[in-house]
Amino acid sequence: MSEHDRRPLVAGNWKMNGLQQDGLALARAVANEMPKPGPEILICPPATLVNAIAQCVEGSSVLVGGQDCHPATSGAHTGDISAEMLVDAGATHVILGHSERRQDHGETSPDIRAKLTAAHDAGLVAIVCIGETLAERDAGQTLDILSAQLEASLTPAGDHRVTAGNTVIAYEPIWAIGTGRTPSLDDVGVAHAHIRSFLATLIAAEAGGMRLLYGGSVKPGNAEELLAIADVDGALVGGASLQAEDFCAIAAAAHS
Ligand code: PEP
Repeated sequence: MSEHDRRPLVAGNWKMNGLQQDGLALARAVANEMPKPGPEILICPPATLVNAIAQCVEGSSVLVGGQDCHPATSGAHTGDISAEMLVDAGATHVILGHSERRQDHGETSPDIRAKLTAAHDAGLVAIVCIGETLAERDAGQTLDILSAQLEASLTPAGDHRVTAGNTVIAYEPIWAIGTGRTPSLDDVGVAHAHIRSFLATLIAAEAGGMRLLYGGSVKPGNAEELLAIADVDGALVGGASLQAEDFCAIAAAAHS
């Protein structure tokens, strides 16, 4: 995949929100109201809804993903879900390493790397989340943190290959998630340019075609300017993905 093939991706992370009735209604509204032609659209509902939503949006341009997977394919891991189970339920993508998982479940970048291999082995496209805390930003460590997270999460093991087709990176400053605050446009541009050039040291030619999403308080009111930044190839959207109108407005701002 070359940089010219970087079709924008707008992904909605519903987190732990959505019961059958409301979740299906929201997915249906997104599928019906999404601008066409437009960016690639992904909904990541809670695991309980992956299969129902995959069936509900079948035939539309909306794709469905999980919010996490276990590194093993099966076994004694109570409460966990394997990548293969997500595929079986109709998912094509999985979010890995979201800061809320790192915080709530102590996930580390080496954990993400193990999950990444499992996701790819099952045929899922993985969205790997990276981002700095406010303290790290204030200490001027943002770019170093991003490099360290990328290196520890993506360094290939054995013959496992990270490619532009099987992996997407989401830059999500932790302090911007759910807070209504975003970095300056310049800061987002610097972070994304850094991610792109650091990726080149890890995965060589694949770096040019890999999609880099920005996430953290993306709303209809700021989507256009964020999505216009060079090296921003889409958005990972939390809160605003729970309203079809807002999510579709953000998608409409993602120029192909
Ligand atoms: C997220 O949780 O990935 C996210 C970006 O959330 P929000 O859009 O609500 O900041």
